[in-house]
Amino acid sequence: TREEPSHFGAGPAQLPTSVLQQASKDLINFNGIGLGIGEISHRSKDATGVIENAKSHLKELMKIPDTHEVFFMQGGGTTGFSSIASNLVAAHFGKTGEVAPGGYLVTGSWSKKSFEEAKRLYVPAEVVFDAKNFNNGKYGYIPAESEWQDKVKGKKFSYMYLCENETVHGVEWPQMPKCIRDDPNIELVADLSSDILSREIDVSQYGVIMAGAQKNIGLAGLTVYIIKKEILDNISKASEDKLHELGLPITPIAFHYPTVVKNNSAYNTIPIFTLHIIDLVFQHLLKKGGVTAQGAENEKKSKLLYNALDANSQFYNLPVDASCRSRMNVVFTLKKEGLDEKFLQEANALKLTGLKGHRSVGGFRASIYNALSVEVVEKLANLVETFAKQNA
Ligand code: PMP
Repeated sequence: TREEPSHFGAGPAQLPTSVLQQASKDLINFNGIGLGIGEISHRSKDATGVIENAKSHLKELMKIPDTHEVFFMQGGGTTGFSSIASNLVAAHFGKTGEVAPGGYLVTGSWSKKSFEEAKRLYVPAEVVFDAKNFNNGKYGYIPAESEWQDKVKGKKFSYMYLCENETVHGVEWPQMPKCIRDDPNIELVADLSSDILSREIDVSQYGVIMAGAQKNIGLAGLTVYIIKKEILDNISKASEDKLHELGLPITPIAFHYPTVVKNNSAYNTIPIFTLHIIDLVFQHLLKKGGVTAQGAENEKKSKLLYNALDANSQFYNLPVDASCRSRMNVVFTLKKEGLDEKFLQEANALKLTGLKGHRSVGGFRASIYNALSVEVVEKLANLVETFAKQNA
């Protein structure tokens, strides 16, 4: 057991203690079978049960429609960058017999990295906009659709990619852009690694959702995918010989979406202990009242913290525009020099850990994922208030 942590790290992130307690028992002896969950065949009844449970609990939590399929794949967000590019360019080719670029809406370092990976794999890709160029060379703002929608209108794209919550820069799309969402010819592909299950979303708007597990849903090692079934069919229709002739990459078999789905996420050995933890987190969230309850709590948490920072705006700097502030990763810096270490020390004295900002941004980043309670965020908000008063 342990004292309840208050860890604001960006990921891997704190998980509910009750989940880890159950998982540690199951690691040794699962369902009383005399073996741990990680020691049995990934095709056994018990392992298949874990896969089925995780799928059905996620479907329930996110109200995933029948048009979409859920699967789990080894790797993390970065594996997703590569597999999205090669699978989605194939899907468009399978559907139309044409090659079209993937469009990237760049709002921070993770969407930028994803674009760079597509280019690296020789998948045609275009930056529709780089938000830096609208904000003095810095991330922290999402331009209005009117500023960039002409670059999309009437053009063909294999897919349109965005990162819903930029974990490093603390920039979150408040909703999906209307011009993409409402265009039936564009498949929206979104990285939800750091905001999945943090608020209610309409899954039918997305072609593909990809999320690394190590923030809101579990341990590193697995990535969750939600994909429109039609896209799976289109990938299967694409001839790999033709893709090769056209200079496009062939997706490695373990990351080929239709193959993984056909084999119920167990084409090769799935890390079933990692998936079991994910399922325990899903069950925990369902018991808590699902995404509706969690979303309301997250709203409260982020308001507490942003209100404390805003109320002391002479002391703290918030680099992200209020229109796109992340509810998961709250980024702030001190206006006065030389006090950063002192802030971290006072936080540590209160057992508030993991607050140091990303090396590329500096200052502080409070990641307030699902497992952090309102009370813990309240403690940090109080520190924000008192530190400003005492050091003004
Ligand atoms: N996307 C987002 C939004 C992330 O925050 C991260 C990393 N935390 C990644 C992708 C990359 O994930 P991984 O380290 O699992 O490859």
